[in-house]
Amino acid sequence: MTQSDTDLQFMQRAMELASRAEAEGEVPVGAVVVHDGVVIGEGWNRLIGQHDATAHAELMALRQAGKVLQNYRLLDATLYVTLEPCPMCASAMVHSRIGKVVYGAPDLKTGAAGSVMNLLSYDGVNHHVQYQGGVMETECREQLQAFFRRRRAEKKADRDARRVADAGDSTQSS
Ligand SMILES: [Zn+2]
Repeated sequence: MTQSDTDLQFMQRAMELASRAEAEGEVPVGAVVVHDGVVIGEGWNRLIGQHDATAHAELMALRQAGKVLQNYRLLDATLYVTLEPCPMCASAMVHSRIGKVVYGAPDLKTGAAGSVMNLLSYDGVNHHVQYQGGVMETECREQLQAFFRRRRAEKKADRDARRVADAGDSTQSS
């Protein structure tokens, strides 16, 4: 697996955007679109904030990049994302004719760039998107796992607090 300095630099930026999602209470996934060595699109998960099931980091970044280039075709661009794209985002990448996709952690449940299925490149698709996984995989995976660990702990603390409150109520009413 080759990880060029360029790949590391842009994946690092995608991780920063993922942190922004996390600060907004969203699952931390971040994405950037790079064209001629310049970031032209940035996205982070905003499903909850925008009440939009399609507001995945990758789609947000693709939309911004299209506006910058004034073209929905992003032929020579590369998209970096911290988590392997889902089927919706992988399809959008094919529609955008993006040149290459680089992702961090594989998504063993819904990954559509090789893990569960491969929508970026298969017989019958007329634009094959190059892709590479595993760039800063450990860091990207750890960022997601830490989020879910924290959220589980918060939910448990919440449940425990309610249990204590309920116990208090029943004592009072008896
Ligand atoms: Zn997606």
